Amino acid sequence: AKAEGRNTWRFYNEAMDQANTDKFNLLQRIRDALKNNEFKLYYQPKICLKQEAVLGAEALLRWPQPDGSFINPADVIELAERSGLILELGSWVLQQACSDCQYWQQQGFPAVKVAVNLSPIQFRDGRLEQTVLTALRHSGLAPEALELELTESLLIDNSDFVQQQLARLGALGITFAIDDFGTGYSNLSYLRQFNASSLKVDKSFISSLSVSLRDEPLVRAIIQLAKSLELTTVAEGVEDTATFTMLQQLGCDAAQGYLWSPAVPAEQFIQYLQCKR
Ligand code: C2E
Ligand code: CA
Ligand code: CA
Ligand code: CA
Repeated sequence: AKAEGRNTWRFYNEAMDQANTDKFNLLQRIRDALKNNEFKLYYQPKICLKQEAVLGAEALLRWPQPDGSFINPADVIELAERSGLILELGSWVLQQACSDCQYWQQQGFPAVKVAVNLSPIQFRDGRLEQTVLTALRHSGLAPEALELELTESLLIDNSDFVQQQLARLGALGITFAIDDFGTGYSNLSYLRQFNASSLKVDKSFISSLSVSLRDEPLVRAIIQLAKSLELTTVAEGVEDTATFTMLQQLGCDAAQGYLWSPAVPAEQFIQYLQCKR
């Protein structure tokens, strides 16, 4: 019976989806990478569309491989979320982003902010406020220089627990951006309850703006909505000057995209700041 059991196990094991094995291996590698300090933060400038000045940067996770390639950050985040490792990874990101931003400010760019992506899981844990406070204290960064990017899926989960954490973080002076706006939910009632300062128009609406007229009314409406709620708008994924000009005409406040820069290592971002001065 024992041998049979083992055979059965092996049967299932061999029949197991290869993708699952790959994910298991990747998770183990993510654990090791975190331990061995292999993760990096890259920074993509956020540009003010009126003056073309650099407002700050969004921190984006990168995991460089020995062959010079990168593992897809979305895959890393997804696995980290499902395994709970996002808590440890997320606090590393907060810590690193705050100290990099503090450094830029010290180097003569006191108005440059940093934006950090947060996973909804980080809110469920209950220790987020403490993690953020620790990152600010260790780095010496002012809370006003930190922006947290939140997804609609978190905000729609209108639980008191989440609301209270957002309120406490907001009271510190931290600001919030609603990420990937327009891709999540049609129920916008969360916009009333929650005090965000900006709204990021998802790049799926921006990428075809200059080639097809289909998305123009939508982007126009989102910008109007944001204005009426006194939120600033940030367009994601701007890749060409035609889109840039259209966004300026539509009254969009800020933008990010390859037109200006992809996400780059911290040392390169400060060079970018220096040459834009
Ligand atoms: P996101 O927050 O929506 O980030 C924007 C994504 O668009 C980034 O992909 C960025 O590299 C890419 N992008 C920027 N400009 C352009 C452009 O002009 N054209 C195009 N086609 N793409 C552009 P990335 O770095 O692969 O990140 C993917 C997602 O992974 C992010 O989407 C975010 O949801 C997640 N992520 C990345 N870093 C972190 C992190 O530290 N914590 C958490 N929780 N999530 C993260
Ligand atoms: Ca983001
Ligand atoms: Ca986004
Ligand atoms: Ca996205």
